[in-house]
Amino acid sequence: MDDLFKLENRTALITGSAQGIGKEIALTLAKSGANVVINDVNREAAEATVDEIRACGVKSEAVIADITDSSSVNEMIKTVTEQFSTLDILVNNAGIAKDGYIMRMSDEQWDIVLNINLKGAFNCLRAVTKPMFKQRSGAIVNISSVIGVMGNVGQVNYSASKAGLLGVTKTAAKEFAPRNIRVNAIAPGFIRTAMTEALPEEIQKKYLEGIPLKRYGTTNEVANLVHFLVSDASSYITGQVIHVDGGLIM
Ligand code: NAP
Repeated sequence: MDDLFKLENRTALITGSAQGIGKEIALTLAKSGANVVINDVNREAAEATVDEIRACGVKSEAVIADITDSSSVNEMIKTVTEQFSTLDILVNNAGIAKDGYIMRMSDEQWDIVLNINLKGAFNCLRAVTKPMFKQRSGAIVNISSVIGVMGNVGQVNYSASKAGLLGVTKTAAKEFAPRNIRVNAIAPGFIRTAMTEALPEEIQKKYLEGIPLKRYGTTNEVANLVHFLVSDASSYITGQVIHVDGGLIM
């Protein structure tokens, strides 16, 4: 592998990484030599993922913390910096969907999605400034969605949270650049995971019609882009939103 893609001696924290896209990102970064901290609310799944990561020959720990709670997040970052000497990479991946039409959407549906997808990412971003500013280096990737760019019927809460994340990305990229910390966002399209398997079949079919590459994406295709964005191969890229969507949005 080209040296530019190597992540040895770097520590990556990935939120919501016990399963799905986050787990694939964790494994991909570990295979490039990064030590990986698995954050999730699901302890059993997180610990199973840690075992898989350690099998790649790197250090890994699970930190169970709800990212909507800023004091738990601050505690998590403290734990990570105590156990690993640096914190070089943050991937804000944890996210949920609670779909419903605007006229029927409850306050609870709105609040939980905005709290996890947007405030949770902000809590982590703010907390990593301490170690990363001190180090004067870092790479952050926020996992947004094409839905944050184009909107979607029945997903007002999800699209608002993912669009919000793009604003967060650009502001953080500007604020952190003087400290040599890069911040980018990825907007995946339709990726095969538990989240998308749960969508009604007719909606899945409708999405496929609009995808020029005529297939759904894989978690690996998202993870490969994260790898690029946190590696030295992308050292002059910050504040960008990169789509992994088979051409859905051009
Ligand atoms: P997933 O399989 O549901 O994984 C998300 C993980 O985050 C779960 O393990 C979940 O735990 C955890 N989590 C939920 N709330 C949390 C909290 N408050 N604190 C910490 N962890 C929490 O989802 P995915 O499909 O891999 O999606 C990952 C990211 O990609 C999300 O941000 C999603 O919006 C985005 N995305 C996905 C697609 C797609 O097609 N799948 C497309 C575009 C963007 P529990 O399951 O125990 O709640």
